[in-house]
Amino acid sequence: MTYLPVENVNTATFRPAAFLIKADTMDKIITKEQIRDAAETAYTHASAIKGGANANYIPYLANINPDLFGLSVVLPDGTHIDYGDTDYRFGIESVSKVPTAILVMRQQSPEAILQKIGADATGLPFNSIFAILLENDHPSTPLVNAGAISACSMVAPTGNSNEKWKAITDNITELCGSAPELIDELYKSESDTNFNNRAITWLLKNYNRIYDDPDMSLDLYTRQCSLGITCSQLGIMAATIANGGLNPVTGKQVYDQRISPKITTLIATVGFYQHSGDWLYTSGIPAKSGVGGGVLGVLPGVLGIAAFAPPLDTAGNSVKAQAAILHFMQTLGLGIMNGQRVIIK
Ligand code: GLU
Repeated sequence: MTYLPVENVNTATFRPAAFLIKADTMDKIITKEQIRDAAETAYTHASAIKGGANANYIPYLANINPDLFGLSVVLPDGTHIDYGDTDYRFGIESVSKVPTAILVMRQQSPEAILQKIGADATGLPFNSIFAILLENDHPSTPLVNAGAISACSMVAPTGNSNEKWKAITDNITELCGSAPELIDELYKSESDTNFNNRAITWLLKNYNRIYDDPDMSLDLYTRQCSLGITCSQLGIMAATIANGGLNPVTGKQVYDQRISPKITTLIATVGFYQHSGDWLYTSGIPAKSGVGGGVLGVLPGVLGIAAFAPPLDTAGNSVKAQAAILHFMQTLGLGIMNGQRVIIK
């Protein structure tokens, strides 16, 4: 490896990446077979893990079979690796916060998210009212309940619930390459019991952080949480984000690639709520969880991963899904902070 001495650099043609990256040591080459094996052993390992409990504050979720478990890995070339119950439709719940934040970035801009909602971790539970009181000038991030309700209020066109709903579901369809389906029973169950979210909505209204009708914004949020999605679909959504907005299965460029680092930053900072730091430190992959038991993980430029199993830990993150993704990452020695260029052969 030869290095160009700094004094010889022609500033007109200077390319920092070519100059700084020592290609022979910073590249990590893995094969698809290694990825497939790692997914299989991660699935087997996590299958044996017990513990956690279904979310019980939403009656529908309490009754889902706790033994369901699926793991999907999707690569930028469209290779799809599935183990277990990857075609079962479960409540997307908080993972829906990711596509709707992307939608607002598409319709407005990443800057609008920063100005009107924020991009800070709360360090508090997903439904915290205290977090809003502490930061009464913004709802912190579109990936907690407060910011997600605020994001639903920002979806265009203002004042038109049907069109807003269409925009929300069309966006998810583009990201996954197939449509989500509303689980009516979950929507009803959640609408009947979302008292805490009603309080959040009106508190945000008090701080001028709801940008449309408050009841409509809350209803859109509740409905998007009640969408049924499969683990396989979430894997494709994760891969689309990892792939700069290019859906590797449909081949469609869904959004401007500059959105990917923004949404991945939000996922890294708050995707596991008050455990986001512990999770990223341990696993090396930004991931977003939902109380339906789904987790979506994004390794930029490398792969998307999703796992689903209903029993949750006390913070609301799926126990088996976490174990599977963690095992997968550790087996392959991957991590967003590793500073390596990963090449899949
Ligand atoms: N619909 C749920 C709520 O608003 C989503 C929570 C979650 O998945 O973290 O409470």
